[in-house]
Amino acid sequence: MRRHGKLEYGGQAGPQRTCVGCRVRTAKSELLRLVRVEDHVVPDLRGRLSGRGASLHPAMSCLELAERRRAFPRAFRVPGPLDVSRVRAHLDREDHEMSCRTPS
Ligand SMILES: [Zn+2]
Repeated sequence: MRRHGKLEYGGQAGPQRTCVGCRVRTAKSELLRLVRVEDHVVPDLRGRLSGRGASLHPAMSCLELAERRRAFPRAFRVPGPLDVSRVRAHLDREDHEMSCRTPS
């Protein structure tokens, strides 16, 4: 579950990562950690999967940017394209939850 509109950390300096989509450095806690499982990129929701990770804002626009830039093969150091459908599905679900909570 994510809350929106709570991005301030009162100047607290936590660990930061660069989003592979928009390349903006952001607090690690605001980013979705992604790992590679064979030729799939999957969201590491519990931070339990091991191996090389990539960080992405949990936003479809950043996922699309990352795909357009072929950022995932680069981040995971593999030559071929990677399947991001599970990341997309995860973001789709979040968007849906958000729109359900939005009063109209
Ligand atoms: Zn981003």
